[in-house]
Amino acid sequence: MQKNDIYEIEITGMTDDGNGVGRAEGIAVFVPYTIPGETVRIIIIKIMKNYAVGKLIDVLNPSQERVKSDCKYFYQCGGCALRHMSYDEELKIKQQKIYDCFSRIGRFDNLKINDIIPAASRQRYRNKSQFPVTPDGIGMYANHSHRIIELDDCLISHESSKRIINAVRYWQKTYSVPSYDEKTCRGTIRNIYTRRGKSGTLVCIVTATRSLPHTDELIEELKNCNTDICGILQNINSKNTNVVLGNETITLWGSSELIDNIGHVEFFISPLSFYQVNKKQTERLYAIAREFANLKGYEMIWDMYCGIGTIGQFMADRCKKIIGVEVVPDAVENAVRNANHNKIYNAEYYCGKAEDIITDLVKRGETPDTVFLDPPRKGCDKRLIDVLSKINTLKKIIYISCKPSTLARDAKIFAENNFKIESVTPVDMFPGTNHVETVCLLTR
Ligand code: SAH
Repeated sequence: MQKNDIYEIEITGMTDDGNGVGRAEGIAVFVPYTIPGETVRIIIIKIMKNYAVGKLIDVLNPSQERVKSDCKYFYQCGGCALRHMSYDEELKIKQQKIYDCFSRIGRFDNLKINDIIPAASRQRYRNKSQFPVTPDGIGMYANHSHRIIELDDCLISHESSKRIINAVRYWQKTYSVPSYDEKTCRGTIRNIYTRRGKSGTLVCIVTATRSLPHTDELIEELKNCNTDICGILQNINSKNTNVVLGNETITLWGSSELIDNIGHVEFFISPLSFYQVNKKQTERLYAIAREFANLKGYEMIWDMYCGIGTIGQFMADRCKKIIGVEVVPDAVENAVRNANHNKIYNAEYYCGKAEDIITDLVKRGETPDTVFLDPPRKGCDKRLIDVLSKINTLKKIIYISCKPSTLARDAKIFAENNFKIESVTPVDMFPGTNHVETVCLLTR
């Protein structure tokens, strides 16, 4: 096989990234924008050690599930991966992906996975957006690249984000405010970060420099853009990095935090704190977690990777005490304040890495009955799993994960330590993309 070779292949599966997979000359070929069951003509664009990458030329027999994408940027933008298929097909693929991870990585045979919980809408579900601002435009990065795709709307983002990016674009043009250039490290505006909650939309302009020219005009432009903005912030990130936010945030106008609620609990959220992006699905996710936990009221619960305290506080009326652990200081501050705000007086929060703090908790004689784990994509640190496995009082773990492969890896270790997978429910938090959330109940 060589670059630029052309093949006709059948797509038989999907990769973790949402690409179709087929075979040519016995080699696995990954082809974006294809669907299992299709025969496609492709051109080889990359050859790696164990696989090749093909670019779709023609679909020779389209799947019945193939649809015209609702987004005009879909085939360039790296944000979504599955908008060329029906939502039913997308759900099927996500369900299968979770099954495959548990069987291949976790070595769980014939594990029953509950039906995935679909989202009500494939559009406008994201409450948070981040649009990079570059000399080549404002938009989103192309797949696996740092090339910007100029956008004037993103269909998965909240309506207000569209008006905000266009207002900032207009303001930059009118007052010649330069975008930051990663290559030369010059310029000012780096990113437009918006977050939506029940108090409105919080806008955060990320700048490379402390000075922000024409601030008053920016505020006016944003206030006039016909959306209920509750605060305008400037975040300073002067480092030459692809991390979006810096450590310092200045309030330019209005409120410095967002307020939102998940079910019966209400939260203050700082820009640097993590908050789930799809509120409706988060409510469903937490409801399933609550059902899995089946708390009676006497339990000590640990909320590891607690962010602003959402999961524990959602369970607070059904347990004796909550201990939350989180590594981002702003999020811990939010969690403490949120507990008070929600009149929850049986919660304690600790700032640090879960895998470090847990040893102190055990030394102090804390004895959890139920532990919630909600780690980032890389999953739990092995040390955390080892310590948890040795806590005799611990009967239930509710593991919430945004990455099935690391969930399956970690579940395998728990299984080797006398835990059993009781129930697994996928929740589609991120329609149109290849990402999926899973709640997994492990019992001793
Ligand atoms: N449970 C929260 C947050 C989940 S996101 C919610 O549902 O909203 C994962 C969180 O883990 C983030 O807030 C992140 O800052 C935090 N985190 C990442 N690594 C961590 C570690 N090693 N120890 C503790 N928290 C960590």
